Amino acid sequence: PVSSTDQIEPHKICVCVRKRPLNKQEIIRKEIDVVTIPGNGALLVHEPKQKVDLTKYLDNQIFHFDYSFDETATNGLVYNFTAKPLVQSIFEGCMATCFAYGQTGSGKTHTMGGDFTGKQQNSAKGIYALAAQDVFTHLNHRKYAKLDVSAYVSFFEIYNGKVFDLLNNKAKLRVLEDDRQQVQVVGLEEVCVTTTEEVIRMIQTGSACRTSGQTSANANSSRSHAVLQIVLRRNDRATTLHGKFSLVDLAGNERGTDVCSNDRSTLVETAEINRSLLALKECIRSLGKNSEHIPFRMSTLTKVLRDSFIGEKSRTCMIAMVSPGMASCEYTMNTLRYADRCI
Ligand code: ADP
Ligand code: MG
Repeated sequence: PVSSTDQIEPHKICVCVRKRPLNKQEIIRKEIDVVTIPGNGALLVHEPKQKVDLTKYLDNQIFHFDYSFDETATNGLVYNFTAKPLVQSIFEGCMATCFAYGQTGSGKTHTMGGDFTGKQQNSAKGIYALAAQDVFTHLNHRKYAKLDVSAYVSFFEIYNGKVFDLLNNKAKLRVLEDDRQQVQVVGLEEVCVTTTEEVIRMIQTGSACRTSGQTSANANSSRSHAVLQIVLRRNDRATTLHGKFSLVDLAGNERGTDVCSNDRSTLVETAEINRSLLALKECIRSLGKNSEHIPFRMSTLTKVLRDSFIGEKSRTCMIAMVSPGMASCEYTMNTLRYADRCI
């Protein structure tokens, strides 16, 4: 179910793509699957023909990523190749980030949160919970016995450039940058955690908070970025930061023109999302080029993730989600082009 380029060197940025299966409605509509994953990290978007002749396709329809996951891949498998190595890295003192990018309905939340529809067994299968579980495994491991750290979790949402605490009734928080360029989210709730179950409960409460009180819950949650942070702090050194893992369920990447609305607030919202996704791409590209200048001030999203873009100890993984259907083709191409630019 997974195809990858052979033996990739450990590196700072990993970019992969995950294709979800056709859903019930798409099957009823007789949607045709136009995304094929032939192997070696490649992914092909093709015309709706029964048989795909690989030699016939233009270069710009073939993409190559570190990993390409097809519709049979489980969250567990995707996790093992993407976020799992990053969990390890935060124990070595890294600032790690894992992004889920893609159009609304492509599987971002399914991958990260594991469909937290109030069912604990589903949440337990998302990357959030799998990462938390691994953090606790590492904490108890002999290898890290000397490392005196505790794990803390925070969970917030960025909507229209503003930060809301999902673990504290959506309290609106300020982002401050001091003269040493340290960025702080003032008053962000950070809960010390010791079990995966605790983290799962927080994910569920926080996610419910993310969508409650909105007229169209799903549409609204797709207009915000949700950030779950697992932070390691030293017990022996006044809770100094040791490592940090930020797991980000990004807002849907639909472009302004795709959103059928003349509503001013929707336009402002869309402009803000576009700006933050552009900023994110620029930051990841700068990180990849070891550039001195990281344009993290371009958006609130990149500002709060500043630590993760600076220095030798940054690790980033981008998982681009795509829908398989013909009707999503345009969005799929946009997503793939974006991911391709992050490499
Ligand atoms: P997004 O967060 O990107 O808007 P969701 O994660 O909510 O999308 O996914 C939309 C629907 O598709 C959900 O019902 C979800 O359960 C389903 N889905 C997404 N990815 C998969 C997958 N890999 N396997 C099975 N169902 C999936
Ligand atoms: Mg979602």
